[in-house]
Amino acid sequence: MNLILLGPPGAGKGTQARRLEDTRGLVQLSTGDMLRAMVAEGGPLGQQAKEIMAAGKLMPDELMVDMIAERISKSDVKNGFILDGFPRTVAQAEALDKMLEEKGLKLDHVIEMRVVDDALVERVTGRYTCAKCGKGYHDVFEKPKVEGVCDVCGSTEFKRRADDNAETVTTRLAQYHQQTAPILPYYQGRGVLKTVDGMADIDDVTKEIEAILAG
Ligand code: ADP
Ligand code: ZN
Repeated sequence: MNLILLGPPGAGKGTQARRLEDTRGLVQLSTGDMLRAMVAEGGPLGQQAKEIMAAGKLMPDELMVDMIAERISKSDVKNGFILDGFPRTVAQAEALDKMLEEKGLKLDHVIEMRVVDDALVERVTGRYTCAKCGKGYHDVFEKPKVEGVCDVCGSTEFKRRADDNAETVTTRLAQYHQQTAPILPYYQGRGVLKTVDGMADIDDVTKEIEAILAG
């Protein structure tokens, strides 16, 4: 099963994608995480990505599609993938469709996670992850059971994304409304679009998504 989780920054895409990895054996393809890994590795492409991301801009479509194509060819993606953070423009959606068609793959569901803007700034500025295992947390909404200790792996080191501050969130949100929201009618036209209430509790959002997947 191949899915796209679509929604503004902080909508809960990563949170839900990680749950679907555990329950359905799908592979989460967070293009943001993939790019950040590329930046951390250094190299000319990483340097280019770093500059573009620091400016809050988008990567060239071709680079992104190639990166995804390479990843979904790997054997661990046999049960399917969850794209999180891509596509972000109609042009990217079209490029993705073309690439998938060439590979004989299809999208089963595109799930829009709808959350009001006011809630997003608080979600994004409060989020952090375990530096060791990547488990996501939030200062208010999802604290570790023991303060300062990861529930999953026991690590005491956590990290925050450099771009998760109030200013960039506002820019990223505006970009979402201008460039990404027009994808919704595109997928609606293809009959694969479903919408869930991303304002609900994390567990309730999971239930809504499960209901869609159970079809
Ligand atoms: P995205 O991947 O869409 O940018 P995340 O999954 O990182 O969003 O979620 C952003 C933050 O909001 C995280 O800290 C997460 O714990 C929290 N969060 C996610 N879903 C919900 C929800 N339904 N209700 C409250 N907080 C949530
Ligand atoms: Zn951990």
